[in-house]
Amino acid sequence: MRRLLPVILVTVLAATGCSHPTVLAASRQIQVPPARQPTVPAAPPTPSTSDCARPAVAVKAATAMELGPFGARRTTGSTAVALTFDDGPDPVNTPLILDVLRQCGVKATFCLVGYKVAMYPDVVRRIVADGHTLCDHTWEHIRQLGSYGRPWIRQDLQQTIDAIHAAVPGVPVSYFRAPGGVWTQDYVTVAHEMGMTPIDWDVDPWDWNFDKFGTGATMTRHIVSTIESTVRPGSIVLSHDYQKPATTAAYRILLPWLTARFKLIALPPDDDGLAAAGGPPHRRA
Ligand SMILES: [Zn+2]
Repeated sequence: MRRLLPVILVTVLAATGCSHPTVLAASRQIQVPPARQPTVPAAPPTPSTSDCARPAVAVKAATAMELGPFGARRTTGSTAVALTFDDGPDPVNTPLILDVLRQCGVKATFCLVGYKVAMYPDVVRRIVADGHTLCDHTWEHIRQLGSYGRPWIRQDLQQTIDAIHAAVPGVPVSYFRAPGGVWTQDYVTVAHEMGMTPIDWDVDPWDWNFDKFGTGATMTRHIVSTIESTVRPGSIVLSHDYQKPATTAAYRILLPWLTARFKLIALPPDDDGLAAAGGPPHRRA
């Protein structure tokens, strides 16, 4: 009976479909000398194309549009999930994010800061060439710009669009996001007047808060766990590509996980601005 125990254990585990690594390791300990146990890789591997090609899980229920502050769009309005990357372009990290997105066949939305667009137009051209959607994130990311009055806001947003069009003539810039999420009614009004839909978000890993969540692998683990535990059908996920290497590392892990569970979309450039329906402002924590 003692000799049969490992065989029985493995048989029971296989019959129950249990594939948890810990359980498998336990079963192997019975049969395999310690020196031959498989080692766990120190870092997660870069996803292969096949990792990312698994079909998205069908989600049956339709998702209603949710509106954030002053009617800014907070969810996609469908079961699809939209990834958004803010504060770029970054000459180093944006191309790395683009590589991972391309490898997984995922389109996203990039919220660009105007003066960086003027500095790195080649990166903007690659974002567009890869089929991603553009969003105006103001000229220099002044958090209080929304309180400066509509003429100032309009001039700032137009200056950013002009820089984008200097890089890629005529490309649609269909979305606007307030720096820091500090929304005002003036922002939303001006954005609509300029043909842009204001977009908020419902998933935020705070990938900029190094003091609270650390850097490097610590931050990467925080980003992965936060997004995996909070994303839902219809989510708009906020992340940053400007000087955020931990975010890039996180998406090497997250994209296979996300593509296995959700349809991922770039917010479409011809969006008709459902946020124009309006909605009550809310307080951000
Ligand atoms: Zn920002």
